[in-house]
Amino acid sequence: MNILEDTSSRTFNNIPDKEGIPFYKPVSKEIEVFRHAYKNKLPILLKGPTGTGKTRFVDYMAHQLGKRLITIACHEETSSTDLIGRFIIKGAETVWIDGPLTQAVKHGAIVYLDEIAEARPDIVVAIHSLTDHRKELYIDKLGETIKAHQDFMLIASFNPGYQKGFKELKPSTRQRFIALSFNYPKPKDEALILAAETGIDEGVAKKLVNIANKIRNLTDLGLTETVSTRLLVDAAKLIHSGLPKRLSVRVAVVEPLTDDPEIIEALADLCDLMI
Ligand code: ADP
Repeated sequence: MNILEDTSSRTFNNIPDKEGIPFYKPVSKEIEVFRHAYKNKLPILLKGPTGTGKTRFVDYMAHQLGKRLITIACHEETSSTDLIGRFIIKGAETVWIDGPLTQAVKHGAIVYLDEIAEARPDIVVAIHSLTDHRKELYIDKLGETIKAHQDFMLIASFNPGYQKGFKELKPSTRQRFIALSFNYPKPKDEALILAAETGIDEGVAKKLVNIANKIRNLTDLGLTETVSTRLLVDAAKLIHSGLPKRLSVRVAVVEPLTDDPEIIEALADLCDLMI
């Protein structure tokens, strides 16, 4: 199988037309920072909890810049071979297949390593020479070094995770990137995102945002992750499609947060009062 056909962990987005530009509501100066980083070919690390718009932002910027985006969702099995390439047996021959990173380096795409800290450490070693002045990729299996195309850019995301259970990123790796923090948008912006993403009315959007902020402030519950914008968007979609509000909030916001039946009931009661 061609490595490009394995879409389980990769997304190849073609350069879109104007119509296809994804909706993104800027929350700070991130667009300006990205444009300047792109101009200077500086790699960017997007830090922040899951569901705070990091992926959407990269998608939006790639569209804005008219560049191909290659997204690699990193997990504990992701190794440098997956990124750089491998030899495969084809009939009686052994053929080299470029991995997505090698293709991007050669042709000048934006590569987004989503959750880089989850990947195997050899990935960090592989991107070293791409994240400093050398801007080149060493393919050890071929003994070749490739100079990066002038349009190549590397973006990575990382969830710092204030509670235990999250993998850390070494300071020496972090210092190879400029960094942008992502967090939950201001209430007004988050309500606007919900309305724009789902078509839900403003009043309901505001109530959902109030619920989220209430739960986000309940730090004593010891939740590993709290209510993300993504969960709110899901709740808003269900409500917009006609599922009763309380049920929508329960299945999209409360249940994904915890498996503790007492906490679920307490949160569901709280949400019922607020929606
Ligand atoms: P992350 O990559 O941080 O886990 P995503 O980019 O996948 O999060 O965001 C999850 C969802 O939240 C998006 O699909 C989108 O619906 C919504 N979202 C979050 N922030 C924004 C934003 N600033 N503008 C538009 N949509 C947003």
